[in-house]
Amino acid sequence: MLTQNLGYPRIGSQRQLKKACENYWAGKIDLSELKEVARAIKEANWQTQLDAGIDLIPCNDFSFYDQVLDTSLMLGVIPQRYTQVLSQVKTNGEIDLYFAMARGYQKDGLDITAMEMTKWLDTNYHYIVPEFTAKQEFSVFYENVYGEYHSAQKALGKKAKPVLVGPVSYLLLGKEKEEGFDRIDLIKKLVPVYVEIINRLKQLGAEWVQLDEPCLALDLSKKEKEAFEFAYRAIANRVSGVKILVATYFEALLDNTQLAVNLPVTALHVDLVRAPEQLDEVLSLIPDQLQLSVGVIDGRNVWKNDYEKSLQQINKAIEKLGADRVIIAPSCSLLHSPIDLELETAIDPEIKNWMAFAKQKLTEVAALKQIAEGNNELLDANKKAIASRRSSQKVHKQVVKDRVSAITDADAARNSAFPVRQQIQRERFNLPSFPTTTIGSFPQTDDIRQLRAKFKKGDLTLEQYEKEIEQATIDAIRWQEEIGLDVLVHGEFERNDMVEYFGEQLDGFLFTKNGWVQSYGSRCVKPPVIFGDVSRPKDMTVRWTQFAAAQTDKPMKGMLTGPVTILQWSFVRDDQPRDVTTNQIALAIHDEVLALEKAGVGIVQIDEAAIREGLPLRKAKRPHYLDWAVKAFRVTASGVQDNTQIHTHMCYSEFNDIIEHIAAMDADVITIETSRSQMELLHAFAHFEYPNEIGPGVYDIHSPRVPTTEEMVSLLTKAADLLPAQNLWVNPDCGLKTRKWPETKAALENMVAAARQAREQISIEA
Ligand code: GLN
Ligand code: ZN
Repeated sequence: MLTQNLGYPRIGSQRQLKKACENYWAGKIDLSELKEVARAIKEANWQTQLDAGIDLIPCNDFSFYDQVLDTSLMLGVIPQRYTQVLSQVKTNGEIDLYFAMARGYQKDGLDITAMEMTKWLDTNYHYIVPEFTAKQEFSVFYENVYGEYHSAQKALGKKAKPVLVGPVSYLLLGKEKEEGFDRIDLIKKLVPVYVEIINRLKQLGAEWVQLDEPCLALDLSKKEKEAFEFAYRAIANRVSGVKILVATYFEALLDNTQLAVNLPVTALHVDLVRAPEQLDEVLSLIPDQLQLSVGVIDGRNVWKNDYEKSLQQINKAIEKLGADRVIIAPSCSLLHSPIDLELETAIDPEIKNWMAFAKQKLTEVAALKQIAEGNNELLDANKKAIASRRSSQKVHKQVVKDRVSAITDADAARNSAFPVRQQIQRERFNLPSFPTTTIGSFPQTDDIRQLRAKFKKGDLTLEQYEKEIEQATIDAIRWQEEIGLDVLVHGEFERNDMVEYFGEQLDGFLFTKNGWVQSYGSRCVKPPVIFGDVSRPKDMTVRWTQFAAAQTDKPMKGMLTGPVTILQWSFVRDDQPRDVTTNQIALAIHDEVLALEKAGVGIVQIDEAAIREGLPLRKAKRPHYLDWAVKAFRVTASGVQDNTQIHTHMCYSEFNDIIEHIAAMDADVITIETSRSQMELLHAFAHFEYPNEIGPGVYDIHSPRVPTTEEMVSLLTKAADLLPAQNLWVNPDCGLKTRKWPETKAALENMVAAARQAREQISIEA
């Protein structure tokens, strides 16, 4: 029996890579220094995996920015607009071209936009989307993979296993940049280059090559299935003497099982954490010879593996296949988990004993192999840890569980239907048509951030800190009044992050010091950990909202983060279904909504920025998710009076296929991201005849550019063509915390002017 790992975090345990890349981009270090940091990280990673006793250790899983972008450079998939970077500018060759593709290039008289970035399947890791043209050619343009293998082989010998993004997923995850062709048809041109690369790796000594094909676990068309068959048959025919491992993850193979197990390769990897139920079918269809890599250790979470549970799966596989055809592995690349639990010195030891980060997960892989081979000693300590977590009072709070089980449909519904509420709210707030507002945060300047840092360090007392935050809040309110916004916000100056702020005040959450995970390029995030039943010991936002409301006669909007977003951006419990955890958070937020209402706050916004990104990869699983996600939102928003106005905000607003569920959330007002698509996203709302009020973002806050009044009037005119004008709000498309004050002021002044013009120019039919 073998063990393997599919990929290891590459940011370094102290985020060395982040710092080195940023220094290199700023011209503070040169390429050799950057490469030196990379070399040290890779060697440390390999040593860690050797020490853990892993048999097949990944290489070429390192990346300066993103593995999909590495693949594009390797294959020569370089959009035309970057060729100037190589030809006209004196650079460090491919590496600068590479960073230009990732980040854009605005120097030396050139102004080239970056390539598009999007989420890697359902993770919070973002990859750079390959751009294909109709006449796309492929060739080995950047030979880095050979060097990566060469140095890995020096460190690891035969254990070194080069990893590549598989050819079919590479095409599927990319985009056609012109009309008139289907990128999947490029497979015929692409495969020969993979053949060349794999053959060369074999010549250099590689025994195994791992090809990541996550798309094999998605809904596939007939043509896409054929592309898999074609690609792997062609590789099998033209490559020999090297073992190919095809790695799938994040979903079950389902209807692709037959296809996957019959690919002419040596081994197939399946994710048994996300989809344990697929093991039976895979085993029943698996042909003789094929080896099976069982992904039993969660590569995307922070919990200790339950060995007994994993052993059941491993033993089932051994029984059917024999030990020599079974490989034990994490469910996916460990890229998505934090690096080293040992660095966490402040976590409660009882809870820490239930956790495992990437380094610890490797030890678990090796331990499972030993246990499967009969070493039962290792099992006992694990059993104890699992049992302690199962029964700990730190995790389990009966009151919370009872409250969740008692949720009824009535708890998830407003008192009256929207038209009734709308009338009552109109009378209460008496807002003009096209009311103006913002999404919540105002610029988090360096001053504000330093304030928080000083307070955390103890250099400021609570009183001093709050005084400064109060002043920032007052200034922001005065200014909103001056420019004439209708519904004000307090600015969120007291918040570090929209999830962390609530997690820190809720029971059942913990925070790490070093639990960083790569989000994109040099950007890393440190998600909170939900370890126990969630409850709300005290008010969370009342103090600041009330303070703000007292500064003005205008309506002040209270600002909360919704349960699905809190769930989505945290490491969650794996000992209960996600919907149960979400409902616990929903009840806590619900209580906060009521507390705000009681404190006299008439408008409350519950942000569900991440509801769209939580959508399951497989269509068949979406209705269930949408049901519980929408219901959780309704739980947070229910129980208030009809005259309390509930807003929600969503960032990534591709709603075409889920619009009925968005409508079912029944928020009185929804604000969404539409400005970049020129209101195109609104068609879904129009087509559905979305009944409630809606604020389609009229300017893109992701860019410092100040939009003109005319532009925004024209967007509003477009919106009014599609939806009843009396239901429209005027707002930017997201929070303003990443912006600077000057551009924010200029843009919002123009926005208020646009609303005024709209009131004159666009007729309202009641
Ligand atoms: N209220 C939050 C803010 O304004 C919303 C942020 C978001 O949607 N990502 O920052
Ligand atoms: Zn947003």
